[in-house]
Amino acid sequence: MANDSEPIVIMGAGLSGLAASIILAKGGKKVIVHDIRENSGARFDGDFQGLENWTTGTDFFEELREWGIDPDEFKSTDFHEVDLAHPDDTITKPWSSRVAFRVVERGSDEHTIDQGLKRLALKEGVEIKYKSRIKPQDCDIIAAGPKKTSAVAYGEVFKTSFPNHVTFQLNDKLAPGAYSYLIVIDGIGLICTCLWRQQSKSDRFLNETINWYEKNYPELDRIPIKRVGGKGDFAIHSSYKSNGRYYVGEAGGLQDFMWGFGMRYAITSGVFAAKDILGETDYEIEIKSKLLPKLKTSVVNRFLMNRIGDRGFKQVAKYWMRHQKKHGDGLLFMEKLYKWGIFRRFIFFFANLGMLKKTITKDGRKMRRMPFRNALKRDVWKPSERAIEIGDEWEKIKRKGGKISFTEDSDSKTIPDVVEASD
Ligand SMILES: Cc1cc2nc3c(=O)[nH]c(=O)nc-3n(C[C@H](O)[C@H](O)[C@H](O)COP(=O)(O)OP(=O)(O)OC[C@H]3O[C@@H](n4cnc5c(N)ncnc54)[C@H](O)[C@@H]3O)c2cc1C
Repeated sequence: MANDSEPIVIMGAGLSGLAASIILAKGGKKVIVHDIRENSGARFDGDFQGLENWTTGTDFFEELREWGIDPDEFKSTDFHEVDLAHPDDTITKPWSSRVAFRVVERGSDEHTIDQGLKRLALKEGVEIKYKSRIKPQDCDIIAAGPKKTSAVAYGEVFKTSFPNHVTFQLNDKLAPGAYSYLIVIDGIGLICTCLWRQQSKSDRFLNETINWYEKNYPELDRIPIKRVGGKGDFAIHSSYKSNGRYYVGEAGGLQDFMWGFGMRYAITSGVFAAKDILGETDYEIEIKSKLLPKLKTSVVNRFLMNRIGDRGFKQVAKYWMRHQKKHGDGLLFMEKLYKWGIFRRFIFFFANLGMLKKTITKDGRKMRRMPFRNALKRDVWKPSERAIEIGDEWEKIKRKGGKISFTEDSDSKTIPDVVEASD
């Protein structure tokens, strides 16, 4: 750890690294952040992502303001209601009187959350060095995002005249083991499918998913612009501070195993690490008492989700709606899913053994990772004619310059790889 006269060095100018840098600079520390990419958010390309508001009873923007991170620095759109598409194509509407989640944009455009946090960091005097490679042993905080792959998401961004909207679809065929979504914000849409089982051709799933949205939302016009995507790295580390270094965000495996909502964990863990360095809290204790119970709950939920197909998803959707009718607010069901009660503690024992793999990195860090599951027999199906057409249309757009930004995020040169994985 740097002494008081030395700067705090952070690897990664994404959400967790920037959040940490803002708190540290506000606390009077000199901070230098290194990022291998050319800008914050460059890992993404205008993807919409949801900032969840259900894992704690506190509104996340209130938390941000308490920490001195101004959420008005980036564009966000509040949602109280979504369309929930059941596996049998029934559509119902979970809603909440509170803000259920906020949609933000990722990338390097001015209004993205990445650039908002970057501006706040620069305002506090943080020095950010882009296209800069640094060794982990020269860093105090590792905030380099995902390393390995536990799941992927793949989507298409398009222009549309459809009003602002979010659909969340539970469907094991179109999104193996997971869900797909449609997000429209101010004339730009994103249809994305999440693959929690490894597939050789993700395009097939995206094209069929787009076909589903075309059929079920006939007013949804679409002029495709680009395709986007990325991966998630989910793990439970035995220690979050190792060899004097803090592992934050997805570099620390801090991701929601159930849905992949990792942004809140990333920012929160960055703040906790900074507060430890400032002598205000203990990082390990904060993570293990505040974030780990949620993470473990999401491990259990993921373990159960892996065991059910569309029939199970339908039961989940029906139960959600019954719960909303009884309690008058759909967000309460989501909050209930993250309660670390006796049932989940019991199942966690089996989930940990059955789903997570013991992993040791070259620098000796121990964790239990969620490997990318193999495809199942039911993942092989014949694409519809319209899905093939959608794929062909995209190929034409690609030839005219349509971009695909599905980047390999691993940087094996600087982040030590796994040397041992057993069970
Ligand atoms: C397609 C997709 C959709 C998603 N949707 C949602 C969603 O709806 N809601 C949600 O909450 N989460 C979502 N997530 C997850 C969320 O994006 C991540 O959990 C979050 O960005 C993690 O933050 P981070 O700070 O750990 O990493 P990042 O924000 O990715 O930042 C990591 C930074 O480290 C840099 N870096 C990498 N290697 C090095 C190195 N060796 N040296 C220096 N710098 C390095 C990278 O360039 C990057 O700038 C999604 C993820 C994907 C891929």
